[in-house]
Amino acid sequence: MNDALTTAHQAEVIFVNHSGGKDSQAMLAYIMRQGFKGRVVIVHSDLGEMEWEPMHGFITANGYGCEVHVVKPAQDFFELCRRFNRLPSGMARFCTSELKTAPIARFIKAYMKAHGFTRAINAIGIRAEESPSRAKKNPFTLSAKLSTKRDGVQVWEWFPIFNYTLGDVWFEIKKAGQQPHEIYSKGFSRLSCVFCVFGRVEEHRMAKEMRPELFAKLAKLERDLGKTIRLKQVNGVKLPKYLDETFC
Ligand code: SF4
Repeated sequence: MNDALTTAHQAEVIFVNHSGGKDSQAMLAYIMRQGFKGRVVIVHSDLGEMEWEPMHGFITANGYGCEVHVVKPAQDFFELCRRFNRLPSGMARFCTSELKTAPIARFIKAYMKAHGFTRAINAIGIRAEESPSRAKKNPFTLSAKLSTKRDGVQVWEWFPIFNYTLGDVWFEIKKAGQQPHEIYSKGFSRLSCVFCVFGRVEEHRMAKEMRPELFAKLAKLERDLGKTIRLKQVNGVKLPKYLDETFC
């Protein structure tokens, strides 16, 4: 057994970060196969109007009867962009840290304190295949943010499906006898935010048709800030490429 699995077996609680997406779903199925049922607590951060739908029901239906907790970020996507005066990017991925990581960390700290737990796993469905920067991450580390020497609290951050390929993810879900969220059958590669800043042009085009009001709000945000998700090259100079000039 590897270090992560050994530590997980000794943990009092295993927090499973769950967006409702395929990677979270496959990760939970994998964790269940390891025999951790009874110690799993699922945590979902609600992205508000950026979600396709409230995900609590879908996660609970595929949650093996585990506790499912929904947390809320302090500010939504639009408020965050106005605060940071920009749209998120690969170099400034404040959306993930503010919309998911921070509220889930707050929940974990409060939950452990309330239950008197000192050893926990924080499981996240990150995969190396997703990007070169993710491939460089360590899939099993002691969380400096969630662990405290003074109270003897140890929380390990674990990416259980770090080495999974996309095919492995679909197979894990199928093996669990579950269906992924229907948004994948419409041609989207990820769930989470309807207009993920890393989404493909074609995905944003489809999302505009399905959620025109949200598109209009995002297009206005870009115009108000003078900052955009995408850039264009004009005479060798990079300039903002607004959503409403791409799609309208
Ligand atoms: S889904 Fe995309 S836009 Fe939404 S928080 Fe994640 S990276 Fe940011």
